[in-house]
Amino acid sequence: MNVTGADPTHVLQSIFGYEAFRPYQEPVVQRLVGGGDALVLMPTGGGKSLCYQIPAMIRDGTGIVISPLISLMQDQVDALQQVGVKAAVLNSSLGPREREAVEHRLTAGDLDLCYVAPERATRNRFKTLIARARPSLLAIDEAHCISQWGHDFRPEYLALADLRADFADLPCIAVTATADPPTQNVVLDRLGMTDADRFVAGFDRPNIRYVVEPKGRRPRQQLHAFIEREHPGQNGIVYCLSRNGVETTADWLNGHGHTAVPYHAGLSDQKRSEHQDRFLREDGLIVVATVAFGMGIDKPDVRFVAHLDVPKTLEAYYQETGRAGRDGRPATAWMAYRRGDVVRMRQLIDDSAENEEHRWTQRHKLNALLGYCEAPDCRRKVLLNYFGEAMEGTTCDNCDNCLRPPDTWDGTTAAQKALSCIARTGQRFGSGHVTDVLLGADTEKVRRHNHDTVSTYGIGADRSKAEWRSILRQLVAKGMVEVDVMGYGTLTLTEACRPVLKGTEAVAFRDDADAAPAAPNTTKTATDDPLPADGPERELFEALRERRTQIATDQEVPPYVIFNDKTLRAMVEHEPQTQSDFRALHGVGDVKLERYGELFLDTIRRHT
Ligand code: ADP
Ligand code: ZN
Repeated sequence: MNVTGADPTHVLQSIFGYEAFRPYQEPVVQRLVGGGDALVLMPTGGGKSLCYQIPAMIRDGTGIVISPLISLMQDQVDALQQVGVKAAVLNSSLGPREREAVEHRLTAGDLDLCYVAPERATRNRFKTLIARARPSLLAIDEAHCISQWGHDFRPEYLALADLRADFADLPCIAVTATADPPTQNVVLDRLGMTDADRFVAGFDRPNIRYVVEPKGRRPRQQLHAFIEREHPGQNGIVYCLSRNGVETTADWLNGHGHTAVPYHAGLSDQKRSEHQDRFLREDGLIVVATVAFGMGIDKPDVRFVAHLDVPKTLEAYYQETGRAGRDGRPATAWMAYRRGDVVRMRQLIDDSAENEEHRWTQRHKLNALLGYCEAPDCRRKVLLNYFGEAMEGTTCDNCDNCLRPPDTWDGTTAAQKALSCIARTGQRFGSGHVTDVLLGADTEKVRRHNHDTVSTYGIGADRSKAEWRSILRQLVAKGMVEVDVMGYGTLTLTEACRPVLKGTEAVAFRDDADAAPAAPNTTKTATDDPLPADGPERELFEALRERRTQIATDQEVPPYVIFNDKTLRAMVEHEPQTQSDFRALHGVGDVKLERYGELFLDTIRRHT
């Protein structure tokens, strides 16, 4: 299919079957088509790939895409081939014969797009090869990997500077989902993109619902209840801290009607890639994993990401939860949170052999995470604030706190009692002892320190132990109290508590005192599932899914490359009867109409 010189919107509609560009896509495409450079920062799922795929097709010649992950490249190429775009990969997964065939197509001008691994792209062999070909643009995926400042530095990316220098006249696009301004500068500098326009989309992922549940005594049961309630039979990732946690949770889920596979660094390479492969190709599979899993997971229809243990930092949390809902449809980021888990993580940090500066940073990050978990108001706001982005308004209507605002109460007096009790006992004790003093308990420790004589002894007898624990925790989350550096859980006061002690500032606390399992969700769920659990619509949907699986299995590609769920739903909703009805569906372009139109129309006709 030749669309050289065509209008970008026409390409979007006729090839990809999408109606309109998403924010930033169109100006980026225009910039590259016009021969300029661009740095594109978009959240995961924002649609970065189209930003270089469409210009590569419109410009004469072959677009060269540097991408670090083999599985990701193959998926993109599969998806492109499905819509009739001439695309191929050059990486270590090819045998010599296949490689020669791709090289031949490249020099013969028979490719719209060629995906290349960075280590290959910087070899002389490749340089001579593209000198003989007609490259139309250079695209660098995961461009932040070129910067040592980032968390994903890849030495092989450094050599891309040379490659770029050799083709300085070619339009160049660098795309990434994570790069703070210093990292952006490094990318532009290394790639010699001095005239590049920056296109920076926000961090917000509006289709992801953020939910944090207090972790009770049976967290797996909570997870199970969440999945059953919101995402039964759907694709998901469950993160656990330890390998053992991963294994036992996967077993448990399998024993409770789910299909789950484990993924962690202790498994053999073969097992790991087998499980990753199944996740990419199967429908309705849950991967239970340590953080080892995820990089390069480009599956668009992950409906939930669950954390059974708290993540390490908010950055990690954002990245891990960002794997949900890349297709833009509703998805949930769910976490079971217990304060004790954070304390344990803090101990790990304190005991680590890292230098003090590093540990300080880690502690700071952990505090931010804590603040997120214990926030009484909008979680999205906390998250975006952390990345330096202000949210408009005060509620997002798509996080647990906005949907069901936790009850709060005026805790000014209680806060004053707790804060002064910490002060009176010398800022040398943890929350257990401080609580005992507040309650007026008669313990050996109280007697040993003469704390039955301080003025705050027993002033909190009107509240329960659990309530005081919760109050102290929230004071930490609010930054008025710090949990110590030494790892003993000692509470100390910060500057921020002064106005409260002076009585010039009020404090509101969350009502839910302690880790009780959350009440069943009374609000609407995160699925936009208009399909009833059974009945004709559901039957049609399942039949379409089955047809999709057959085709995908035959071609050895993931099901969503054939059609994604959104398109299947559109089929159920509109029940197209003719080819032109079918072409009008979201995600149906000319080539897919030709290849699959009749197959799916046949299924639809049989069911209606
Ligand atoms: P990322 O920014 O993470 O690389 P992708 O390029 O993989 O995101 O796009 C995520 C999903 O959104 C893909 O399934 C893609 O086909 C889809 N998509 C991209 N642009 C559009 C659009 N303009 N309209 C509809 N769907 C789109
Ligand atoms: Zn919110």
